[in-house]
Amino acid sequence: LAPPRCHENAPGLWQAQYPWPGAQANKYHRGHALVLGGAVLTGAARLAAMAAARVGAGLVTVAAPQPVWAVYAAALTSIMVQPLQGPDSLVQLLADARRNAIVAGPGAGVSDTTRKNVLEVLATQRKTVLDADAITCFARDPQLLFSAITGPCVLTPHEGEFSRIFPCEGSKLVRARYAARESGAVVLLKGADTVIAAPDGRAVINTNGVADLATAGTGDVLSGLIAGLMAQGMDAFFAAAAAAWLHGETARAFGPGLIAEDLVRTLPQVLRALK
Ligand code: AMP
Ligand code: MG
Repeated sequence: LAPPRCHENAPGLWQAQYPWPGAQANKYHRGHALVLGGAVLTGAARLAAMAAARVGAGLVTVAAPQPVWAVYAAALTSIMVQPLQGPDSLVQLLADARRNAIVAGPGAGVSDTTRKNVLEVLATQRKTVLDADAITCFARDPQLLFSAITGPCVLTPHEGEFSRIFPCEGSKLVRARYAARESGAVVLLKGADTVIAAPDGRAVINTNGVADLATAGTGDVLSGLIAGLMAQGMDAFFAAAAAAWLHGETARAFGPGLIAEDLVRTLPQVLRALK
């Protein structure tokens, strides 16, 4: 049997699902993204949170380790900040089911705490984006991660993160498809050609990105875009495809000199053109 066809990513694939707010929308209709913040690198989670807000999540909260809570709060205004203190505090935050899409990994640190947080998030079967350290912290036991993925989940590894939990060979398309089947998650394998593969065999290749994206923090913005779209009800595969396309198009619109913050600032002009 020939493998299912792989399309070039383009708005035509997901535009019908794009969650433009209706005239009567209020913020509670537009989802609530929760971003888990790190204790040392605080910029990554802030970038993800700002991206989730810009792409239209009605509310965004950053859960920040108590010792650095004020760092987050001082640098975020439209984003809520909740301090995390004590072993049960994330579970308490997750008890509010309105927080319907969660990002873990950016700036999180490779630690037992990150692994525990990821497992607590996945246990809720909420929509989840796992990036960076949330992937790497399962390098020694990828099966633990895969068996915990029972709800809608997107993994967003770059090649290095990918190879830590998916030891496999072949083209990017072959490896991303294998990884999606193996993990039960949508896998977005980053790079100049980004492959997005779903466990059911759907796959697209996104090629509108530009080399200006090769700078710190752009991946964190991407994870926030995906979660922001999932918070608004978009299916995980379409959210990942739409976010990758918006990310590339926004980098293109800004051009040389891009830093990650510029993606957040320039996104509205790309959204206006898409609408
Ligand atoms: P990360 O590796 O997590 O920092 O994410 C980097 C982001 O920039 C990903 O979305 C990559 O796909 C994108 N990116 C990095 N280098 C390039 C490149 N040369 N061309 C296009 N996109 C790139
Ligand atoms: Mg990254």
